[in-house]
Amino acid sequence: MSELASSGRQQSRMTYLITGARPCGEDAADILVEDGRIAAVGEGLSAPGAEVLDAAGLVVLPGLVDLHTHLREPGREDAETVETGSRAAALGGYTAVHAMANTDPVADTAGVVEQVWRLGEQAGLVDVVPVGAVTVGLRGDRLAELGAMADSAARVRVFSDDGHCVSDPALMRRALEYVKALDGVVAQHAEEPRLTVGAQMHEGDRSARLGLTGWPAAAEEAIIARDVLLAGHVGARLHVCHVSTAGSVEILRWAKSRGVQVTAEVTPHHLLLTDECAEGYDPVFKVNPPLRTDADVEALRAGLAEGVIDAVATDHAPHAVEDKETEWASARPGMLGLEQALSVVVATMVETGLLDWRGVADRMSVRPAAIGRLDGHGRPLAPGEPANLLLLDPGRRAVVDPAALASRSRNSPYAGRELPGRVVHTFLRGVPTVLDGKAQR
Ligand SMILES: [Zn+2]
Repeated sequence: MSELASSGRQQSRMTYLITGARPCGEDAADILVEDGRIAAVGEGLSAPGAEVLDAAGLVVLPGLVDLHTHLREPGREDAETVETGSRAAALGGYTAVHAMANTDPVADTAGVVEQVWRLGEQAGLVDVVPVGAVTVGLRGDRLAELGAMADSAARVRVFSDDGHCVSDPALMRRALEYVKALDGVVAQHAEEPRLTVGAQMHEGDRSARLGLTGWPAAAEEAIIARDVLLAGHVGARLHVCHVSTAGSVEILRWAKSRGVQVTAEVTPHHLLLTDECAEGYDPVFKVNPPLRTDADVEALRAGLAEGVIDAVATDHAPHAVEDKETEWASARPGMLGLEQALSVVVATMVETGLLDWRGVADRMSVRPAAIGRLDGHGRPLAPGEPANLLLLDPGRRAVVDPAALASRSRNSPYAGRELPGRVVHTFLRGVPTVLDGKAQR
C-alpha cells in the first residue's frame, strides 16, 4: 500500500507531452499534462524533461463517467471489489464511476457511503462516487438518511434503490422532494414489480416459444410515465436507469418537450444485443431489464443520437461463477460492462454514423458528470482543466476474452465477439492509471 501510494505521488509529479492525438476526433494536436492539469493544447509543443507519449492516430476524449456501476463491496468481494472494479473502469477509459447502493450492508447511511468512498480513494484508479439508497435497506417502505449521506465525506448526489424500483408513488414523490433540496437526483430502476413477478426475459413471441415468463415493456414504461409526471409536479430532477424499450424513449421525449427535468441512460448491452441471445439459455445473457427486440435497439440508438437518452451507463454487474453458471431460471441477472462499454459504443454508434467523437464525449463523460454533479469530470480538453482523459485507438479490433478481464468476475456477454477500439492510456488528474493498455496499479 505505501509503495503504491508513493509511486502514485512520484507519477503525479511527472510531466507528460502527448503528441499527435486527435481531441474528440478533430485535427491532431499535442497536449501537455503538468501538475494534474492540461497545461497546453496546440501544434508542435515542446517540454524539456517531459515524458513523451506518441499518440499519432489516437483519439483523445475526456475521461468517461459511469452513472451505474456495481462494485459489490462491501459484501460480495468474491464477485468484485472497489479495487478490481476500479481497475476494470480505468482500463475501459473511465475516470469516475458511481457505485450502486445494493451492497451488503446496503449503502443507506453516511457510514457505508463513506466506507465505499474511502476504498475508492485507496485504490486510486478512478473517482469512486457512492450512490445512496433511497429507502432503508432498499425495502421501499421508508426513506433512508438522504441528508446525512449528502453531507458526508462522500457528498452523495445520486440516490437509487437500483435492483429494486421505488414503486410506492407517494414514497417516490417524497424522495423527489427531499432530493431536490439536496441538489441531487433520484435514479429510478423503472420496473412495476407487480407486472414482472417471476419474469425471466423480454415478454414477446420468443418468451412464449422458449417457455420463459415474460417481462413486459409496459412494466418499465408505466413507471417512467408515472415518474416524469411526479418529477414535473414536484419540480425535481429524475434520472431513469437502463432504459430498454422504444416506448420509454417516446415517453422521455414527451416529458422533455414539456420541460420535465428528466435524464436517462442506456446500457451498452441494450444498444447491441437482443432477446435472440436467450435462445441458447446461456445465463450470461440474463439481465434486468432484459434484452429486448431489434426495434427497441434501433429506437435506443436513435434516442441516444438525438439526446433524448442523455448517457451511456454500464450497469456493470459482476457475479460469482456459482451465481451465473447455473440454469437460466436460477441465475442472477446482470453482466459486465466497464471494460467493453466504449468499444460497444464505437461499434453501435460511431461506426454506424449515429454519433461523432464529440457526441461520444458528451454521452459518456459530459452529461453523466453533469447529472452526478461531479466537479472536474466531463470538462473540455483545454488548458487549465483537470487532466482526466483517455486515448483510444479506434481502428484496433480485438476478440473479447473474459479470462483477460481485470474484473474479478467473468460474466461478459461479449465473450468471443470482435469489437473495435482499444483504450491505450487513461489519465486521472494527470496521473496515468493505464499506459499501453496496462493498469498502472
Ligand atoms: Zn437496475
